[in-house]
Amino acid sequence: MSETIFHKIQRREIPADIVYEDEHLFAFRDIAPQAPVHVLFVPKQDFATLNDVPDDSAAVIGRLATAAARYAKSQGFSEDGYRIVMNCNGDGGQTVFQIHLHLLAGAPLGRFGTPG
Ligand code: AMP
Repeated sequence: MSETIFHKIQRREIPADIVYEDEHLFAFRDIAPQAPVHVLFVPKQDFATLNDVPDDSAAVIGRLATAAARYAKSQGFSEDGYRIVMNCNGDGGQTVFQIHLHLLAGAPLGRFGTPG
């Protein structure tokens, strides 16, 4: 997999608001937020897209989701609610080819999935 901007963020080579890190993953605020809260959770194990994650690495994805839920609880919006999203390839709107989970929250979110 090629180097991405998220590797540079992980190495602190470019600035980002990193809100969480452990041995498996790190999380930082999206530079172009699509909701009042928009945080990206990125595993430290590299996969370009969700298509590249084998069954025996399913825990990588599970950890992203549970880290997002823990963050939502820690920030006090888990009961109001939130959305997690992973975009895959062109039709999914993926622009950074290193898997990541979007956490969106902080206001009622619109419906999703409409073409355009
Ligand atoms: P996706 O389109 O699902 O691949 O998501 C990539 C996300 O990365 C987009 O929401 C971008 O706004 C975000 N992004 C790109 N560059 C940066 C950066 N330097 N710092 C924080 N977020 C970024």
